[in-house]
Amino acid sequence: MATSLRVLIHGGGIGGLTLAAALARRGHTVEVAELRSALEALGVGIIQPSNALHVMREIGVLDDCLKAGFEWEILTVADPAGNALARIPQPRMGDAPSNNGIPRPALAKVLGDAAVAAGASVRFSTTITDLADDGAGVDVVLSDGTSGRYDLVVGFDGIGSPLRTRLYGDRYAPEYTGFANWRVTVPRLPGVRGVVMSTAGQEAKALLTPITDELMYLGAVFAETPDFRPDPARAHEQLGERLAMFSGPVAEALAMATDPAAVVYSRISQVTVEAPWHVGRVVLAGDAAHASTPHIAQGAAMAVEDAQVLAESLDAEADVPAALAAWEKRRRPRAMWVQAMSRAVLRQETGSPTSPEEDELLEIGIAGAAHILTEPY
Ligand SMILES: Cc1cc2nc3c(=O)[nH]c(=O)nc-3n(C[C@H](O)[C@H](O)[C@H](O)COP(=O)(O)OP(=O)(O)OC[C@H]3O[C@@H](n4cnc5c(N)ncnc54)[C@H](O)[C@@H]3O)c2cc1C
Repeated sequence: MATSLRVLIHGGGIGGLTLAAALARRGHTVEVAELRSALEALGVGIIQPSNALHVMREIGVLDDCLKAGFEWEILTVADPAGNALARIPQPRMGDAPSNNGIPRPALAKVLGDAAVAAGASVRFSTTITDLADDGAGVDVVLSDGTSGRYDLVVGFDGIGSPLRTRLYGDRYAPEYTGFANWRVTVPRLPGVRGVVMSTAGQEAKALLTPITDELMYLGAVFAETPDFRPDPARAHEQLGERLAMFSGPVAEALAMATDPAAVVYSRISQVTVEAPWHVGRVVLAGDAAHASTPHIAQGAAMAVEDAQVLAESLDAEADVPAALAAWEKRRRPRAMWVQAMSRAVLRQETGSPTSPEEDELLEIGIAGAAHILTEPY
């Protein structure tokens, strides 16, 4: 499409800001409506695998991400005492770096700055209150009292997506897996120069991920009842109790985690929108359409790929509906594969029964998945 489109992005998270930058760089008029009052994010880190870094290069922020984070290439598998069992070099997509750990607030800043520099406007404390698609455009009323007409509305509004509820009711509500992720940021141990994955069989797995020269985070997944919440006064001790079988670097990291308020507890849920991801000129993307468990660190990578491919599809197709159809055709198989692989790894690591299809995926494994995902998206 040669015309400049007016696009409203609902949600200024990782995917929404990436899309804002990608579209504004192409000359489209882009507004982001973000519910939060500022570009903030949980104070923990995230892994940007090579396919995500490839997108960061496309939107011009690769160097900023690397500068704000910690680039790494070798995944170390270790025993509970931290003795290395395997060192697995991680693949690259083209000439993009292999991996980057980065604090989430730093990534939010890089993406927000890029979107604004490209000409997008980001409105905080704002959400959609009404929306009507008449086929030729979408009339939207926002909570700040303004209204506008858009060629396209994109729901990059996360796993709890209010836009998804608007389109599909509670048909695709997030499904709790029965497992939750505990994370805490601590000073980086000098030996942690890439992800160190220590496993104690199916009892527990603990990951140390460098996110800057100074910082790393300790992460671990455990079965938790749906209503469990860490005790605000001793969350760090509760994490320590769950990781009691570890010594070495994991124990050293735990010893540095002395503030219960620094422990971030996230229930792991999934969403699969089986119906089309777009209805008319309103489309769901990222976690809103296909949230997966974090077991192969690809959720945000899929969100930024969604963003990049959507921008490319709008370039290539004759009109918005055709672009949305072409986009979904390209994105759905890959996002569903990541979701299935992530779920299979969760089941394997937690000793849950696996289906024959999951057994096939598990033969590929995390290392094989990383290679597959460096193929073009
Ligand atoms: C424990 C854990 C670890 C993870 N680790 C990794 C990793 O290492 N690598 C990786 O690639 N992925 C990882 N992920 C997945 C990743 O965090 C998500 O897939 C990614 O953030 C999805 O991006 P998104 O833009 O779709 O949604 P989000 O980043 O969640 O953004 C959604 C945005 O929408 C906004 N919003 C919500 N409601 C409204 C509303 N009503 N109006 C306006 N705005 C609204 C929110 O405030 C938010 O800013 C992990 C996930 C978890 C749970």
